[in-house]
Amino acid sequence: MPEPTPAPMPEGMRVAVLLPVPALGALDYAVPEHLEGHIQPGAVVEVPLAGRMAVGVVWDKGASGGKVLPYGKLKPVNRVLDLPPIRADLRTFIDWVSAYTLSAPGPVMRMCLSASAALQPVPVRRHYALNKSAATDGVRMTPAREAVLKVLADGTPRVASEVATLAGVSDAVVRAMEKTGLVTVSDMSVDLPYPQPDTTLKGPTLSDEQTTAARAIADKVWEGGFAPFLLDGITGSGKTEVYFEGLAEALKAPGAQVLVLVPEIALTSQWLDRFQARFGVEPVVWHSEVGQAERRRAWRAVASGNARVVVGARSALFLPFQHLAFIVVDEEHDPSFKQEDGVLYHARDMAIVRAKFAGCPIVLASATPSLETLVNADEGRYQKLVLRERHGEAVLPEMKAIDMRHEPPEAGTWLSPIMVREIEATMAAGEQAMLFLNRRGYAPLTLCRTCGFRIECPSCSAWLVEHRFRRELQCHHCGHVEPIPNACPECKNEDTLVACGPGVERLFEEVTHRFPTARTSVMTSDTMMSPSATAHMVQQIASGHLDIIIGTQIVTKGYHFPNLTLVGVVDADLGLRGGDLRAGERTYQQLVQVSGRAGRAEKPGRVYLQSYEPEHPVVQALLSGDGDAFMAAERDARSRHHMPPFGRLVALILSGPEMADVLDTGRMLAAKAPVEHGVNIVGPAPAPMARVRGHHRFRMLVHTRKEIKVQPLIREWLSRIKPKKNVRIKVDIDPYSFM
Ligand code: ADP
Ligand code: ZN
Repeated sequence: MPEPTPAPMPEGMRVAVLLPVPALGALDYAVPEHLEGHIQPGAVVEVPLAGRMAVGVVWDKGASGGKVLPYGKLKPVNRVLDLPPIRADLRTFIDWVSAYTLSAPGPVMRMCLSASAALQPVPVRRHYALNKSAATDGVRMTPAREAVLKVLADGTPRVASEVATLAGVSDAVVRAMEKTGLVTVSDMSVDLPYPQPDTTLKGPTLSDEQTTAARAIADKVWEGGFAPFLLDGITGSGKTEVYFEGLAEALKAPGAQVLVLVPEIALTSQWLDRFQARFGVEPVVWHSEVGQAERRRAWRAVASGNARVVVGARSALFLPFQHLAFIVVDEEHDPSFKQEDGVLYHARDMAIVRAKFAGCPIVLASATPSLETLVNADEGRYQKLVLRERHGEAVLPEMKAIDMRHEPPEAGTWLSPIMVREIEATMAAGEQAMLFLNRRGYAPLTLCRTCGFRIECPSCSAWLVEHRFRRELQCHHCGHVEPIPNACPECKNEDTLVACGPGVERLFEEVTHRFPTARTSVMTSDTMMSPSATAHMVQQIASGHLDIIIGTQIVTKGYHFPNLTLVGVVDADLGLRGGDLRAGERTYQQLVQVSGRAGRAEKPGRVYLQSYEPEHPVVQALLSGDGDAFMAAERDARSRHHMPPFGRLVALILSGPEMADVLDTGRMLAAKAPVEHGVNIVGPAPAPMARVRGHHRFRMLVHTRKEIKVQPLIREWLSRIKPKKNVRIKVDIDPYSFM
């Protein structure tokens, strides 16, 4: 819906400008006379700040902090950037996220202005086109010039180098023709508009249950207005096809825009191909790996309304859409939607809020919905759509547990004899196998056989992980790397260091040893460094150029490999250790997702779970396929203990270079802790990751009944103490990590 043009600010007035700086609210600036009438709420402006120029957004509210400077003391706005104003729904959203997460509004707004290149003027380049009204008489024609005119005959403006290449002449020939009057010259933006999706293309014929779901979504998209859906469909049931129908409906409205949030954008090459097949063009892609020039083009196209479909990682939520008409959060259960640094927010939860302010439908899609979302659906806040069948002939794979207590692997290996036989059978049938182990590197721990010394990160409380392919030890928390030493750093004995436990690289060693002729590859964030590397690997698997794929959680995400029939989970118990609130739920989701890679086409799939505790409810739920019962049990347990979503959690993470200061601050907090019915506070206690990057960490956990408003409680509490110098207090509302 086009927004009515907001009334210009009263003349000769001050405006509040929100700058992407922490700790400052919106600051007042004077509007100089020549800008009067040009500044409206949402305008992107440049203002002086601490001796330099900064870019901010004209905000609705006046200066916060209550200090109102007299008009004469205000600095003037320097200029208004040539960009569409940030719309009211996004401004409201930014304020809301700031209030909810207890972050200052500046850093939240920074996520919206994150494409710094977009704030600069777009570079222009000289384009040449045929001057149709020019007469050729009196102009000296040469074969080169004639070749140029022939290229330009179609009327499209082109840069000199392109014309030159097409015409087979030098750039100079093209440029010199400006003087002849035969060509017109114009300076045009280097950012081309995006081609528009084609909504007349037909999708596949949907099954009955797919049709029902697709129609429910498309109807709401057509109606407009906030409408949240849970699309709960087993892996391979066609959830993507279903929400594509919602997209198609949305795109029929002129100018309407759609946002699809996906957990790890680098992993969506197959998704992009499907989108292209369905809508004839590529969508606009937004994530941290997109380069500056493309970011500028994308950001500006979103702001102008030219970008119709954006598929992106969580930060895409803060893009300045003109007319957001539909949002999809694919794989809504994925933990990576929670941002764990900077502003701590959950993109799935915030997407719901964004949809509310934008007044548009939103679909949360998953084969394994989070408990939070299931409860929202059960309590009637979200409309639930269910897909129970896999598309076509495909059926869910057969699941079996391997009891590692009875079928242990040989010493120094990690695959049970049963698993080895299954891989053999799969290879003999000319099919593909995938082995899942959520551990990067060769071994999670290196230990000295003589003195027992364990190699730790110098600045974190974490073991260094051996990466044998790269011949180094790496800290997975701070990125520290060092060469693998020959001698034990402690007792100095040589050749006494041994690798403990398996990582994917070690599994690769075992697999290539056992199956020397199989084409085996490792799929992790270490081997898939870029979207193109990922796309290549995915292509290799899909086209049958690989036989065995060994991967971390990266392989669980939505891929469709028709010839993949065996999935082996090397350590089904891994995610259950350490046991935070969601360990069971998360392990269940992850294993369902990885199992969902098997047997997605005509050939039926098999999944084997290696476990030392096959009686565990998670393993049992996977074997019986009764995920509903498992989630119901999880739900009961959480409800009984008033844990989310039946209660609230807030974590405070205190960190700093001096342990004593951090602990002191923690004690101060504990002394001033709010005493209120329904509020329980524990800590300060050393965090499980007690040291990261040389900083000591303590945690406090606030656990409240559901009806308690935690934000005012925490804000008031924090205002009662003054942290020690250099101690940082991070507030994590609805924490997902407890490390
Ligand atoms: P999900 O997202 O639920 O895992 P997908 O949408 O990826 O499922 O569908 C799985 C596979 O089945 C895809 O290759 C998809 O193109 C195909 N598919 C699903 N529904 C249909 C349909 N109605 N007609 C043809 N192919 C379909
Ligand atoms: Zn480290």
